[in-house]
Amino acid sequence: MKITDVKCAVIGDSPIVRIITDEGISGYGQVEKYKPYLKWHILHLKDYILGEDPTNVERVVSRIRQRGAFKPWGSAVSAIEMALWDVAGKAAGLPVYKLLGGKVRDRVRVYNGAVRFPMAGQTPEDYAENMARMRASPEGFTIIKQGIGFHSQMKHELPAFFYGDSPPPAGDADTPSGKSPYHGFLVRGLLTERGFNHVVDCIFAMKEVLGDEIGLALDCGPGWTLSDAIRLTKAVEDLHIMWLEDLLTGDYVPWVGADLYRELTRVSTTPIHTGEQVYLRHNFKELIETNAVNVIGPDPADIGGIAELKWVAEYADLHGILFAPHGTGDGLLGLAALVQVSATLPGNYIAFEYPAPQETWWYDIVAGLPDPIVRDGYIDVWDRPGMGIELIPEAAREHLSAEDKDFFA
Ligand SMILES: [Mg+2]
Repeated sequence: MKITDVKCAVIGDSPIVRIITDEGISGYGQVEKYKPYLKWHILHLKDYILGEDPTNVERVVSRIRQRGAFKPWGSAVSAIEMALWDVAGKAAGLPVYKLLGGKVRDRVRVYNGAVRFPMAGQTPEDYAENMARMRASPEGFTIIKQGIGFHSQMKHELPAFFYGDSPPPAGDADTPSGKSPYHGFLVRGLLTERGFNHVVDCIFAMKEVLGDEIGLALDCGPGWTLSDAIRLTKAVEDLHIMWLEDLLTGDYVPWVGADLYRELTRVSTTPIHTGEQVYLRHNFKELIETNAVNVIGPDPADIGGIAELKWVAEYADLHGILFAPHGTGDGLLGLAALVQVSATLPGNYIAFEYPAPQETWWYDIVAGLPDPIVRDGYIDVWDRPGMGIELIPEAAREHLSAEDKDFFA
């Protein structure tokens, strides 16, 4: 089998990769929805893989791996990797999880990092009210993650939140693309005592709503100073928080900071989590080998693909590090990839971040998903070949721009 073409269409804000072969099989992959600008990057990789056998996934990816980097630049390689697995599974007549070594579990736990409800404000009452709505959401999530601190509107809306300049709220931007120039921008600094206390009050308010029935994880930064981060671990020590994510680095920060994470993790009884922006196993090496964190959360659409994610999960497991993959913007094709790989991960697997699209039309253009997708906080692993879900060309076509109209041709 040979790759005869690589196409990319932007559907919604998600670049979708299609790998076309000489045997009539196509494979699909998806880039995080925040990155419509990456279409050129995907198409630029085409020259390096045309003519290759797509079922030799590792050999094909080795041709393009050097052209990726930390978020957002690992996405194109990652989406192509997923599309290759989709082809390989379809060619073999097997679900991708079989090609990755087979199922460890029949259903995969997911956590809520994307089913969101608008927040009225930034008070502890607002956080409690919002948590109650997420708790009542029909997916029955057993773990809910909420953004606080620098990973929330606090940095925009609370006066004297920190000793630094507050950027304008996202959406206030007047850029040619209409996007906020602060998306992914590292806002950082020392918190004021009032700002710090406010974060802690909001955490206590949310915990009150969830009790010990539903796990609360917190996406905190990046941007905290090490000293404030240590203070936070002390302040929430008795709350049994599932993890504190990305306090120091994360999101679009193009470095890891494993040495500082290690300082933090040494003094914290609450699990410390990072890794969503990190590309390739090599960049997890120090985090894992020095036990710099307790939980890592790579995103299959940023780390370099699902095989890379699996390798890192197993290496983390050898070191007693837990695993909770990121996925909030990965869309429904990304969801399928997360289900396939998560079914195969070792016992350090906690849950992956369920990527719920905000635009409900996505559910009309994709076939093969269970209904409902999430039941009691889990997704049953399906058994169809490849990733096991398909774009429906007749339905998806209306979401293609004029320049992408030949995507399904
Ligand atoms: Mg995060």
